[in-house]
Amino acid sequence: MKKLDEKRSLLNLSKLLGQTPDPKLLEDIAYLENLEERERQRQADLKIRVGKQALVFTGKLNKRANPVSNLEPTGGMAGSITAQESVETEDYKRLNHYPDGKPIPAALPDLYQSVSNKMVPAGQNCHNCNYMQDNGGCSKWGGAQVRANYWCAKWEKIKKKDLKEEVLITSRPQSVPDQMAQYITRNPIKETVISQGDPVLLDPTNNLQLKVKQLEKWVSKIAATGPGSGSAWLWDLYDVDSGIKTTSVDTQILSYDGALNKWTNKNQLQVDNTSITVSGGVISAQAYYGSFYSTQNLTSLTTSAQTLRINNVDQNNNGVNLNTSTGVFTLVYPGTYNVAFSIQCKNTDTGNGDHDVYVWLRQNGADVALTNSVVTVPAGHGSLQGYVIAAWNLFLRTTAANETFELRWWTDGPTKVTLDTVPAQAATAVTPAIPASPAVILTVNGIKLT
Ligand code: SF4
Repeated sequence: MKKLDEKRSLLNLSKLLGQTPDPKLLEDIAYLENLEERERQRQADLKIRVGKQALVFTGKLNKRANPVSNLEPTGGMAGSITAQESVETEDYKRLNHYPDGKPIPAALPDLYQSVSNKMVPAGQNCHNCNYMQDNGGCSKWGGAQVRANYWCAKWEKIKKKDLKEEVLITSRPQSVPDQMAQYITRNPIKETVISQGDPVLLDPTNNLQLKVKQLEKWVSKIAATGPGSGSAWLWDLYDVDSGIKTTSVDTQILSYDGALNKWTNKNQLQVDNTSITVSGGVISAQAYYGSFYSTQNLTSLTTSAQTLRINNVDQNNNGVNLNTSTGVFTLVYPGTYNVAFSIQCKNTDTGNGDHDVYVWLRQNGADVALTNSVVTVPAGHGSLQGYVIAAWNLFLRTTAANETFELRWWTDGPTKVTLDTVPAQAATAVTPAIPASPAVILTVNGIKLT
């Protein structure tokens, strides 16, 4: 599982560099970890099947002076394990394969094992052993190929002159028999557990080369796809949808798509609640508005105010609705609106019969302070009736969707003053054709959306 170690190191390195790990890297690690777990299970099953004949250390020092011949290559070596230090191995069966299935060279001793086993002194492994050769072989055991995260009891402190800094942690007991006893009393299945350690941290000196290699890989990846890569194409960037390479058409814009989690090509740009359309090089914003007018005559009640009723709605209105039965408007989107209106007041009284008309704003069912205005409609003179067009505008702010407003009105001449619609007039010998005059005209314009 050297690959898994390398990928974990790459992941650690990316975190150190403050980079977001490549999802493919995370997938690879999960896949390799799954393989590793399956291998562990396989090994455990195998041990259960062979029972006592399988991998079991007895945990006791050999008291029968029974030297373990396969702990040493033939011919003997300086520092070989003596009969007193050896362990009882009549039930022990050496491992012939690494967890990844590769064979363990026969020349290596039985005690050659993963550094993850707790009996192995911290900081000791083949790659920082004096017997480790440049070609990956071990001179102690006839040049047999060894692995970085493995160890045997013949490990010796490195003596090369050019390596001035060696990372050796020697706080744990170094006696081989003691280490073996510790190991035996623990769960022997751990012999097969693959090292979870980071090879760079485990063996910083000799894995410097690996570290540099991983760094080079990472930098080359950043250079290929990451920010600052100098790419001439947007679709080469990691957070841009590569599909725009073939689907972009004239006048489209780059916009962020939360579902894709990338920037992509779109025809419209959504800003707040307003759609901005790009067409033929022209940008047009779609706001919210409404246009209304009344073709009926409205009469005031004697003592109480009433809502100004309007009976016609422009079909192109957007986001401003009117209930013609109640006279109540609904603003679908919260924001600031300008409400502009004009009312055509007619007074049929005569003489000194001038009368006042009052109009004010009601929002969400409550009258709004300081919004009333008053206009005086003069009495008629002779055959002429008194007419006044009152035109005002009000600012209206809403903070929630579907807030309502209405215009309330009252006059002190209820039997004389009406809001009147004047019909269209055909041309005569002395007058031109004149369009109808609605009793009420009202427009609503969204100024700012929240
Ligand atoms: S620890 Fe040293 S002596 Fe033992 S197998 Fe590894 S390189 Fe050889």
